[in-house]
Amino acid sequence: MLSYQHAYHAGNFADVHKHLTLFAVIGFLLRKASPITYIDTHAGRGLYPLSSEESLKLQEHRQGVQRLWQEKQALAAEPLIGDWLSQLAEAQLGASRQGMPTLDSYPGSPWWLTRQLRGVDRMILFELHPGEHEHLALQRLPKNAQRIHGDGLKGLLQRLPVSTPRLCVLIDPSYERKSEYAEVAETVLSAMRKARHGVMLVWYPLLPAGRHSELLERLRSGGLRKIWRSELTLREPDSEARGMYGSGVLVVNPPWGLEAQLEPAMTRIEPLLGPDTRHRGEWWVAE
Ligand code: SAM
Repeated sequence: MLSYQHAYHAGNFADVHKHLTLFAVIGFLLRKASPITYIDTHAGRGLYPLSSEESLKLQEHRQGVQRLWQEKQALAAEPLIGDWLSQLAEAQLGASRQGMPTLDSYPGSPWWLTRQLRGVDRMILFELHPGEHEHLALQRLPKNAQRIHGDGLKGLLQRLPVSTPRLCVLIDPSYERKSEYAEVAETVLSAMRKARHGVMLVWYPLLPAGRHSELLERLRSGGLRKIWRSELTLREPDSEARGMYGSGVLVVNPPWGLEAQLEPAMTRIEPLLGPDTRHRGEWWVAE
């Protein structure tokens, strides 16, 4: 049964980590003219008003995107982060009425992908939860984007290989079921066999139970050519606090130069997200 709703968490530190990484990857891909198919296997609602009942309940954005937003003038000239914040300003519903928009909405992965979509590109969004898909259906999409109410992992494999020369996939499950870690790993390995040059981003939570290690071990031994692993932690895993202590993103076949752009950006946001926040980046390269 699906019960996870991203609206309770939208804009938290993990979203900042994931969407900043996604934004950087897309920026690199757009340096070439050849068409790209983007596939978002777990799309969510697309846009999250921060005044919604769900958002107000946990207010996780206050420890996430809000920390960067408050510093947006100081961050405006920062490579990557400055551009990311100006894009974010365009998602604000009150933006056209006020000179300095207040942070009233946080956009999800479909929005970040749609912003960058060119006429030659394609985009497919999957969302399985009926209620979440209903929200997603309210988002206006360009003609070359398609939304599908269905399973994103199965749907991804069914659609590979794609007709465009390049592919960029975001796999961002809710990991409600323990088996999802293994399912994601097997899907990535099968997908990479069908689309060897695809760029694939896989998000995972860092939780005290440590179930993400199953995903990492399977992918590490799966013969993939090159993976960049990025983890942003708010505290050490052995601390008493429960819940997610960090956020992880794997980038399979990362664009050249990604690490050099993301490492300083993550280091810049560390102190804004908390005194013990640390970013660690690591390469896995097949022998
Ligand atoms: N990617 C979104 C973003 O960055 O804004 C957030 C996605 S949220 C973490 C995970 C979403 O996946 C939820 O909306 C959930 O309903 C949906 N979901 C769960 N299992 C799914 C599946 N097998 N296929 C597609 N969507 C699924």
